[in-house]
Amino acid sequence: MKRLILFGAPGSGKGTMGDLIQRDFNYAKISTGDILRNAIQQDSTDGRQAKSFMESGGLVPDELVIELVRQRLSRSDLDGGYVLDGYPRTLAQAEALSNIASESEKAIFIEVSESEAVERLLSRLTCSECGAIYNLISKPPKTAGTCDLCRGRVAKRADDNEEAVRQRFRVYGERTMPVIEFYGHKKVLERVNGGGAAALVYEKIKGLIA
Ligand code: ADP
Ligand code: ZN
Repeated sequence: MKRLILFGAPGSGKGTMGDLIQRDFNYAKISTGDILRNAIQQDSTDGRQAKSFMESGGLVPDELVIELVRQRLSRSDLDGGYVLDGYPRTLAQAEALSNIASESEKAIFIEVSESEAVERLLSRLTCSECGAIYNLISKPPKTAGTCDLCRGRVAKRADDNEEAVRQRFRVYGERTMPVIEFYGHKKVLERVNGGGAAALVYEKIKGLIA
C-alpha cells in the first residue's frame, strides 16, 4: 500500500498516530495543518490567506489546500509510501486527490467520543517549530515550554480554544463525515477505537498497516 489516509475528529489522535507511523514505517507524513501553520509562521501569501479560517476553526478554501497538496505530492520522497493527516477533508479534496495521484491506499478512521477529544484538545500543547504534540496532563514536555525534540517553543495552538473547537467539530460533521463515508463505499476504510492511551491505539493501527 502506497498511501495511508488518517481520518478522525479534531483531537482523535491523527497527528500523534501519523508521527508514530512515520517513525516506524518510514512513511513520509503529510499534514495539511502543519503545512498551513508553517505558512502562517513564515507569513507567506498562502499563510496570510489561511490564517483567519484556521483561527476560527473553519476550513481553508479547497483551491489553496489542494494546490499545496499537489505541490507536496510532486516531491520525490514518497516512494516508500506516505501518510496523510488532515487531508482530504471535503469531497472536492478527495476527488482532487484521486486525480493528482491514484495509488493503492488504505484509510483508517480513528473513532473517539467528542467529550474525550475536546478534553484532549483543551489540554494539548504543540511545538511551534516541529509540530510535536504534547499534553499538559498526560505528556508534558520535559522542560516546561520547550520541545523535547527540537527545543522549539511549546504552546497552545491558536485554535485549541473552546469556541474554535466547537466550530471545528461542526465543520468535521458537515464536511468531512461524507468523505469518510465515501472511503467506506470504496471499501478501503478500517475503523479503530481511538479512546484511551496513545500506545494502545497505535498497536491496533500497526496491525492494520503491516
Ligand atoms: P485538527 O484535525 O485537530 O482540527 P489540523 O492541524 O489537522 O487539526 O487542522 C487545523 C486547521 O487547519 C483546520 O481547522 C483548518 O482550518 C485547517 N486545515 C487543515 N487541513 C485542511 C484541509 N485539508 N482543508 C481545509 N482546511 C484545512
Ligand atoms: Zn519541536
